[in-house]
Amino acid sequence: MKTLELKDQRKVEFKNTQLRYNLPNEVSYCVKCTMSNQRPRITFDEHGVCSACNYAVFKRTKIDWGMREKELIALLDKHRRNDGRYDVIVPCSGGKDAAYIAHELKHKYNMNPLTVTWAPHMYTDIGFQNIHQMERVGDLANVTMTPPGYTHRLLTRLSFEILGDPFQPFIYGQTNFPLQAAVTYGIPLVMYGENGEVEYGGDMKNAFSPTRNYKTDHKKHYFSGLGPEDLKEYGLTDNQLKPYMAPEMEALDKLGVELHFYGYYKKWVPQENFYYCVENTGFVANQGRSEGTYSKYASLDDKLDGFHYYLSYIKFGVGRCTSDTAHEIRDGHITREEGIALVKKFDGEFPAKYFQTFLEYCSIDEKYFNEVIDSWRSPHLWTKKGEEWFLHYNIFNEGLKQK
Ligand SMILES: [Zn+2]
Repeated sequence: MKTLELKDQRKVEFKNTQLRYNLPNEVSYCVKCTMSNQRPRITFDEHGVCSACNYAVFKRTKIDWGMREKELIALLDKHRRNDGRYDVIVPCSGGKDAAYIAHELKHKYNMNPLTVTWAPHMYTDIGFQNIHQMERVGDLANVTMTPPGYTHRLLTRLSFEILGDPFQPFIYGQTNFPLQAAVTYGIPLVMYGENGEVEYGGDMKNAFSPTRNYKTDHKKHYFSGLGPEDLKEYGLTDNQLKPYMAPEMEALDKLGVELHFYGYYKKWVPQENFYYCVENTGFVANQGRSEGTYSKYASLDDKLDGFHYYLSYIKFGVGRCTSDTAHEIRDGHITREEGIALVKKFDGEFPAKYFQTFLEYCSIDEKYFNEVIDSWRSPHLWTKKGEEWFLHYNIFNEGLKQK
């Protein structure tokens, strides 16, 4: 791979993660799941239960799913086309969730969906295989946008350094490319999967709304406050950033683009989406578990996935296994005790498999990688003993601060 040439070499500086993400000083854990209060924007009630667990109970007990399906059908009736044109966009990374939604929209609700993919940084074999299985076995149309590689690598490296998440360029594209496709193909309805803010703990403002507001929420919820346009100060041009940007608001308004969450209309259980896709879209899980967790069927498509989760572990003490177990506890698949044991075993495991690939992709060496990683470690979470870093708090020694 060609070496990246950056406008200026940045000196690594301490980032003050705690201030940046407004993280509470004392770490505490939800009494029902494994999530901590360090997940940005999550809230805990007076009984120590996190907003995601409260929403899960609400979802199980208070929602009339029959009524919600009627709402869905009314929405689809409004958008359904019978002239061969596509009538709903399903943003799709190649995973099980979008394949389930698109397949059900087509085969159960008689829609004509167009799945829209913003390509991963680098496909894994299994991710590549699954997306083609979805097209072939699931009988679904797909448009894939692959951004130009060199610019994408520059953005990835910048995001790793300044945002502490090499995944951000993917998130820009994943968020904005479906809007571009809506305008290009003249399809006003865009159907997302779950509302991550609500399902996994975050801003509960939209908990009872089927739609997502691209005008107000995108930058805050998906871009950590830093949009693609803000990267210009790092030497990127408007033209380079264009593929990552949303279309003009005027064009979206004129078409009447609406973003909806399938998880509002249908009960969202990732494990069931997985079984649905194995049966209907030829979805294949990994042979072994993903690094940092025990699961085999989520977020498999990109060789850089593991670094996104690893950075979350560094910044918030919340690794991939914490997120997976918290969700599976809420869905009733495992107990909190089982979740804690899994966290102890796998959370924060280093994504070694594609480490060399990542270094080469970003044109950095191991020493610089570690400097950047360490710049994101907040002293309220981490302490260094000799050459090794330790978290002060862990869910498996709850309440005890490790000195
Ligand atoms: Zn919880």
